[in-house]
Order: sequence, then C-alpha cells, then structure tokens
Amino acid sequence: MSKYDVAVIGSGPGGYVAAIRCAQLGMKTAIIEKYNTLGGTCLNVGCIPSKALLDSSHHYEDAIKHFEDHGIEIPGEVKVNFKKMIERKAAVVDQTTKGIDFLMNKNKIDVFTGIGAFKDATHIEISGDKNETIEAKNTIIATGSKPSSLPFIEIDKERVITSTEALSLTEIPKHMIVIGGGVIGLELGQVYRRLGAEVSVVEYMDRIIPTMDAAQSKELTKVMKKQGVKFYLSHKVSAVERKKNEVTITATDKKDKEVTFTGDYCLVSVGRRPYTDGLKADNAGIKITERGQIEVNEHLQTNISNIYAIGDVVKGAMLAHKAEEEGVFVAETLAGQKPHINYNLIPGVVYTWPEVASVGKTEEQLKDEKVEYKSGQFPMRALGRSRASGDTDGFVKILSDAKTDEVLGVHMVGARVADLISEAVTAMEFRASAEDIARMSHAHPTYAEAVKEAALAATDNRPLHA
Ligand code: FAD
Ligand code: NAD
Repeated sequence: MSKYDVAVIGSGPGGYVAAIRCAQLGMKTAIIEKYNTLGGTCLNVGCIPSKALLDSSHHYEDAIKHFEDHGIEIPGEVKVNFKKMIERKAAVVDQTTKGIDFLMNKNKIDVFTGIGAFKDATHIEISGDKNETIEAKNTIIATGSKPSSLPFIEIDKERVITSTEALSLTEIPKHMIVIGGGVIGLELGQVYRRLGAEVSVVEYMDRIIPTMDAAQSKELTKVMKKQGVKFYLSHKVSAVERKKNEVTITATDKKDKEVTFTGDYCLVSVGRRPYTDGLKADNAGIKITERGQIEVNEHLQTNISNIYAIGDVVKGAMLAHKAEEEGVFVAETLAGQKPHINYNLIPGVVYTWPEVASVGKTEEQLKDEKVEYKSGQFPMRALGRSRASGDTDGFVKILSDAKTDEVLGVHMVGARVADLISEAVTAMEFRASAEDIARMSHAHPTYAEAVKEAALAATDNRPLHA
C-alpha cells in the first residue's frame, strides 16, 4: 500500500494548490480526483469556461454595437458561430486543465483518478479504473460544491439547467429565464443576452447581487437593463414546469400576485451546496454541519486532528481564490508554520461588463455595525481613459473610517475593475488611509485614476476631475 504524508481529495483550486504547496514544503503528496481532468469546478465548469464565453460574447457585442462608433465598418452581416464559440471554450478548458497535469508532474505529486472514500482516519479507498487504498498521515478534503436547486424544481439538464449545462448548450436560447440574480445568473445571463436571447432574471430579493454594496446592484441593474435584460425583483418562484421545448415558471410578486414566464430554457442559479457525496466522512468520524459543510476550526482542521478541509466544502465565500488561500494555509500549517488569512480582504468580482468588484465592508454592513464612516465616489465617465475606450458606465466608491481615515471598503463597477480591485486589497492589507491612496501617483490615462479620485473624495471631498 502506498503511504503519503498528505492526501488531498479533490483537485479544484483548493485541492491542487494545497497539493503543490505541500510538495513544495517537502511532503510526499497524493491527489485524488473522481473526474478524468484535474482542476475541479473552477477550471472545468466554472471560472474558466464562463470567462471564455463572456469574452467571446463581448467581442461579438462590440462588433455589432460598438465598432461603428470607433469608425470601423464591417461589410455584410456579423454572425455568431455558436458551435465554434463553445469549441473554443472547450479548448481553453482543455489547455488549462492540462496545465494542472503539468504542475502535478513537476511537483512530483501522485495523481489518482477515482472517488476517494475514507476507510478510517488514515486510509482512503479509491474507486476508479482500478481500486486501491492509500495510507495518509494527513488528509485535506477539498471536494468543493455542486449547484443547488429549489425543492420543487427538477433539473432535467436539457431545458431546466444549471450553470454546467449553460456552458455547453448546442443552440442559443430564444428566451432564457434565469432564477437567481446572483453571480452566475448575471454572468451567464449576459452571455446569452449578447448572443441575441431574450433574458429574464427572476430574483427573490429586492435587488440583484444582494450581498454586494447596494450602489453596485443599482448601477449594474441600470446598465444591464440598457443591454436588454429584464429583471423581476422580489419575486418568489413557486413552480417550474417543462412541456416539450417550453418551460413555464410561476412566481409571486411582492403584492402576492401570481405571474408566469415562458421560455425555452430555465437557468437555475440560486447558489451552490457543499459536496461530500461518496466521501464516507462517517468512516473517519468527521462532523458535517446541518448545512452540509465540513465543520472546521480556525486552523481549517476538522474534529479529527489529522484531517483538514478547505474551499467550497467549508464555510465562507465560494470563490476559487478563497479556496486557494486555504490550500496554502493548510499546507503551511502542516509544515509547522503559522500562516494567516484575512477573510475580510477576499475580493468578490462579477465578470459582467461593466465588471463589478468589491473588497471589505459594504455601506450597509457599516451602517448595521454602527461604524462612523466617510464615503467618496467617482464616476468612470469623468475619466479620459473611459471616454477613449467608450466604457463610461460605473464608479469607484471608497468607504473609510470617519476618525482614522482607514479604508474599510472599496466597491467598483466599470471596465477592468476585476483587476483594479487588487490595488484596494493591497492598500487595505497594509491598513492604508484614503489619503494614502489619494497621495499615490496613478498612471494617466488609466481606469485606476478613478481609485485615486474616489480616495480624494473620501479624504476631504476634493476630487480633482469631478
Ligand atoms: P471544486 O473546484 O468544486 O473542486 C472539487 C473537486 O473535488 C471536483 O473536481 C470534484 O470532482 C472532486 N471531488 C469531489 N468529491 C470527490 C471524491 N470523493 N473523490 C475524488 N474527487 C472528488 N470563483 C471565482 O473565484 N471566480 C470566478 O470567476 C468563478 N466563476 C464561477 C463560474 C461558475 C459557472 C461556477 C459554477 C463557479 C464559479 N466560481 C468562481 C466558483 C469556483 O468555481 C469555486 O469557488 C471553486 O471551484 C471552489 O474550489 P474547490 O477546490 O473548493 O472545489
Ligand atoms: P449566488 O449566491 O451568487 O446567487 C444566488 C441568487 O439567487 C441570490 O441573488 C439569491 O437571492 C437568489 N435566490 C435564492 N433563492 C431564490 C429563489 N427561490 N428564487 C429566486 N431567487 C433566489 O449563487 P450563484 O449565482 O448560483 O453562484 C454560486 C456560487 O458560485 C456563488 O457563491 C459564487 O460565489 C460562485 N461564483 C462566483 C463567480 C465569480 O466569482 N465571478 C461566478 C460564478 C459563481
């Protein structure tokens, strides 16, 4: 029987990063993945394929809507070759997952393909092409998550679909009804809207992306409405029925009036659930919470001292970079180091266009926590860079402590803010004040100038260009 210092179950961004860091720190490491490709949800059916389709559909939208403004004329009709778009997405996924094979090889990590199940706290049985059992001094559970649904919905994977199927459709929907105006619903809703589908988003709460700052919800709603997406907020879905190629969704609005929506596809994007099926966690005595998460302490250690858990299968934001940080954290803990994760500074991004990015406290949270704060906001349209590219929607908003000026939250909507948010994370990690940011030179002309201007506005309301 092969023996390891560490076995990692699951090869998503949590698992494969944990395995690399364990190997870097000199531990004999195995990784177990039930699918034939490594990379988990993120690389196979999440972050990477969704961004590939967002980018492709964005090019198409630019070609049909914006090229003309730039003096570019395309003789004849611009057409979408959807099959090719999906094939390109698959090729991007393929290249990316092969990159993980390379990294496992380079770091001398043994890869096992099959379902990993605990026999006891130090033995894992792998059922795949061949069945074998390995012994591991320590195990890191990184089994991730799967789409969740509503009790009355039958996901048939053809017309009533999750993000997984929405990333591999064979036709552009005529009318896609999206249940849930969160990250997945908006990113994939925007993809299909750009490609010509009618898109209706039915959301339970009174605003989309309800966990982000309310100003971001408002701005993104405005822009996506302009793009033709229809929003039905404060709507409680009560039934989803498929008849042949038609799907009918029934919901009640805030006045308790029943409304129905009929389309050819229904995307169910109401969140994801932690995934532990087949893991046989009981055999090792591992505690699972009522919400299905693996219970961990502040060291990401389960109730069984040599077993840790990370990523989507434990509490916290279901984000790839959060899972990665946790993978490194556990590897370094096992090596006797004292790592640290600042969960308040895990940024959140929605890759619509304009992009939405956030870090730290929202204005609503500061109000709830009765923290006295100052707010500085700067509109993207006031930037020379935005006018040059034509991306004038959005803003940067900086919230800082009323007394100390320390930056407490940064919330952005606009072109490339997914990249801009890193400046805010760095500043906040070093506990910068708004004035610190305001006094740093920002290259001109860039979208980043909006960060400086918002910091000037937060410091003492003295933006230079507004
Ligand atoms: P996962 O990536 O889910 O990986 C878990 C792996 O474990 C899977 O490969 C699974 O097959 C394997 N596994 C499970 N059980 C076993 C077992 N018993 N034996 C062997 N293998 C097992 N996050 C971002 O930060 N940015 C984004 O842009 C983004 N976009 C997304 C878009 C979509 C459409 C979706 C669905 C998600 C997106 N996410 C994004 C979320 C991100 O994908 C997850 O947060 C991330 O993948 C979690 O990583 P993980 O390692 O915890 O688990
Ligand atoms: P989400 O939590 O982002 O959004 C779910 C939405 O569905 C919420 O707005 C919620 O209010 C709504 N909802 C819940 N129940 C409902 C009901 N009965 N009727 C109508 N609306 C309802 O979840 P998601 O969009 O499914 O994404 C799942 C996870 O994947 C998220 O945690 C997210 O972090 C991750 N993800 C991240 C990215 C990214 O980082 N860009 C992209 C995609 C997914």
